Amino acid sequence: MDLHTVTEVITSAGPGMWRPGDVWLGGGTALFGEPRPHLTRLLDLPSAGWPAITVRDDGVEIAATCTIAALAGHFREHELVQQCCHSFLASFKIWNVATVGGNLCAALPAGPMISLGAALAGVCTLIGADGRVRRVPVADFVTGEGRTVLRDGELLRSLFLPGYALAGRTSYRKGSLHRHGRSAALLIGRAEPTGGLALTVTAATRRPWVLRFPEPPRAAELEAALAGIPAGAFTDDVHGSPAWRRHLTGHYAEQIRAELSA
Ligand SMILES: Cc1cc2nc3c(=O)[nH]c(=O)nc-3n(C[C@H](O)[C@H](O)[C@H](O)COP(=O)(O)OP(=O)(O)OC[C@H]3O[C@@H](n4cnc5c(N)ncnc54)[C@H](O)[C@@H]3O)c2cc1C
Repeated sequence: MDLHTVTEVITSAGPGMWRPGDVWLGGGTALFGEPRPHLTRLLDLPSAGWPAITVRDDGVEIAATCTIAALAGHFREHELVQQCCHSFLASFKIWNVATVGGNLCAALPAGPMISLGAALAGVCTLIGADGRVRRVPVADFVTGEGRTVLRDGELLRSLFLPGYALAGRTSYRKGSLHRHGRSAALLIGRAEPTGGLALTVTAATRRPWVLRFPEPPRAAELEAALAGIPAGAFTDDVHGSPAWRRHLTGHYAEQIRAELSA
């Protein structure tokens, strides 16, 4: 859709350029999806040319502008990354322009990069309008449907995935109303190096919930932890009712528990 109030597109955008009426532009696949009459300028981040993926000794730094296609290409052998990339209700056309950062910042419940980042103990690097840098775990970055901790003019620069989490054993479950539908529940379990279990609930809930167990939980312990997610936390839209999403969450969580405890 045309954003007809936009009069300027600023290329090679970065921190410090933001003014009222501006918006950061990733791939634009969510931004151009609905009218946004308050916008006057697009600050185009992909044209800044940030390296998409930087491998470090302690993990992998993924630029916010890294496309889903580039991520999937880099992590061809990583099962969980592949599973999350394929969780988009989107074809290769979207994969080639949609960015990892755009997915995190759009903060849709069914955002698979949110699921991936939260499950792998990912950390977001944010840069404020004044150049100040802060780091926020992905699990805390998204605070609700379409809501994040980003402040006015602040941008997401990158997502860091620690090597220990990337190397960990994981278990993934996704459910939708129909075969290629938008995720209604997306759960990921990860065996912690210390012997514990981290269970991440996304899509079913408006924001990610990460349940941590110091050792693999018994079924009743898991059930009790899931019961702590309040009724109002479950997503309510055309892709599934809250009651059904809660049911799916319990069902998949138990499968994940059994699989990772084996
Ligand atoms: C057919 C189709 C299917 C889709 N399926 C899904 C799906 O299954 N799950 C899902 O979650 N989404 C889905 N989407 C929505 C969208 O494609 C994805 O969320 C995508 O990852 C958004 O990335 P983008 O780079 O295009 O973001 P953009 O549209 O460029 O930006 C999205 C929002 O994030 C902000 N933003 C972008 N980058 C930054 C940054 N670095 N720092 C600060 N703010 C930033 C923008 O200002 C905007 O508010 C779908 C879209 C289509 C058209």
